[in-house]
Amino acid sequence: MGEIISGKALSKDVREQVRLDVLALQEKYGKVPHLAVVLVGEDPASQSYVRGKERACTKAGIHSTVIRKPDTISEEELLDIVETLNNDDEVHGVLVQLPLPKHIDENKVIDAIDITKDVDGFHPLNVAYMHLGRPAILPATPKGILTMLHSKNIELQGKDALIIGRSNIVGKPAAMLLMKEHCTVTIAHSRTKNLKEKCLRADIIVAAVGRANTVTADMVKEGAVVIDVGVNRVDGKLVGDCDFEAIKDKASYITPVPGGVGPMTITSLLQNTLECFERIVKP
Ligand code: NAP
Repeated sequence: MGEIISGKALSKDVREQVRLDVLALQEKYGKVPHLAVVLVGEDPASQSYVRGKERACTKAGIHSTVIRKPDTISEEELLDIVETLNNDDEVHGVLVQLPLPKHIDENKVIDAIDITKDVDGFHPLNVAYMHLGRPAILPATPKGILTMLHSKNIELQGKDALIIGRSNIVGKPAAMLLMKEHCTVTIAHSRTKNLKEKCLRADIIVAAVGRANTVTADMVKEGAVVIDVGVNRVDGKLVGDCDFEAIKDKASYITPVPGGVGPMTITSLLQNTLECFERIVKP
């Protein structure tokens, strides 16, 4: 049976390190990192993500502020809030929870965030720096995936990695980061032909689709590493994109859902907030 990479357990360790780092920074600079989150509307999933982020910040000793606005807020008002946070020396990380209501141009809002405070790593300049291999704030989910792979010292160099999904927040950056680790990367998406064949060739599969059972055991090579990013609700139960029960006997490592990539995403956000603080506050 393959080894389960518990994002929950790993997060506990990494978040404890973040807490200790925050204490050390407080001692040195007399202040702690401050993350400001802007939440627009009443979307239950967004509210739950933001609550999770708030709780994790508090536990790690990071100051967090949530600015809640109704979904009737205008684009201009939201841009004003972002600008105020950009200019506030006591705020080190700015995050606007996505998705935004349809009348607001998400790109405009992302572009408005000061890149030194861009804890999500979604600003086009941060994305460009990441692609160029220059120092950048990395998007939280792919960063969490790398932390999981590194935590088990999984050999990446020269491995065939298949990323299923090409979103800007998961698939594309995960592909880029694995390429930087010297994997040979293939990206699959909804128009990909022969997904099974491509999966069977992969040493590492990252599934970021949002559809339960996209990857089944017959699609996985013996000893492959399977990272399941998907979050799906099936009969009231939270499941990933991969058939965990059947695949775990074939894979060398596999991440569960829940308790896998999800907690690592928030953990990476804490690390990013710390990184932004250090960049801003360090003389
Ligand atoms: P997304 O923007 O909807 O992207 C989904 C991707 O899957 C698209 O590129 C799509 O292809 C591809 N796809 C759809 N059906 C496919 C199929 N049958 N075969 C192969 N590829 C297919 O989603 P996302 O934001 O990347 O998120 C993906 C999943 O991860 C969701 O379940 C989301 O909830 C979850 N997620 C989890 C975390 C976490 O922290 N655990 C964080 C972010 C996302 P096209 O480009 O051709 O449409």
